[in-house]
Amino acid sequence: MASSDRQAELERVHAKIRRCNNCGLCQAALHYVPGEGPADAQVVFVGEAPGAEEDRQGRPFVGPSGSLLSDLLALAGLRREEVFITSVLKCRPPGNRDPVSAELEACREHLDAQLAVIQPKVVCTLGRISAGALLGTPFSITREHGRPRRIGGRLYVPLYHPAAALHQQRLAPVLEADMRKLRDLLAKELKAR
Ligand code: URA
Repeated sequence: MASSDRQAELERVHAKIRRCNNCGLCQAALHYVPGEGPADAQVVFVGEAPGAEEDRQGRPFVGPSGSLLSDLLALAGLRREEVFITSVLKCRPPGNRDPVSAELEACREHLDAQLAVIQPKVVCTLGRISAGALLGTPFSITREHGRPRRIGGRLYVPLYHPAAALHQQRLAPVLEADMRKLRDLLAKELKAR
């Protein structure tokens, strides 16, 4: 698909997200947060759900976890503008509570539609909820973080959520090491960079 067609297709997916009432979370939310980044990104990062700042701005990872994510991307040799960033839920759960399974199921069609358009080579999940949604539950992020899996030709890399590293200091060096490992993985996986 030509890059401009892909962009238009992604905009259609995002317009559909902004009309969604699949789970009702949108009713208390200020903004839908579909995600952002190039429609032809080779790498996609998938978080859990928008937080307060994301809800205010309608943009993904713009709060405290977002500034850490930007720093972590640099460790993987990535610029924020070249990756697509989204979350499994497109609306903020009240008080940042964990998503419930009905919400994850209801929102799933949107993430699937985004991935179908973008066709990334690598998908990095951020945190247990995102890994569980894409790689199956129950998911032990403690055991599986940093261990890539190939599914249908695409590489999935489960990573800790940046918020986990903000709340538990001992996880920060673990996540940083996984991002450096990701840099090596990407060098092999994305030949045409
Ligand atoms: N945490 C997430 O998982 N997603 C966001 O967009 C922001 C914080």
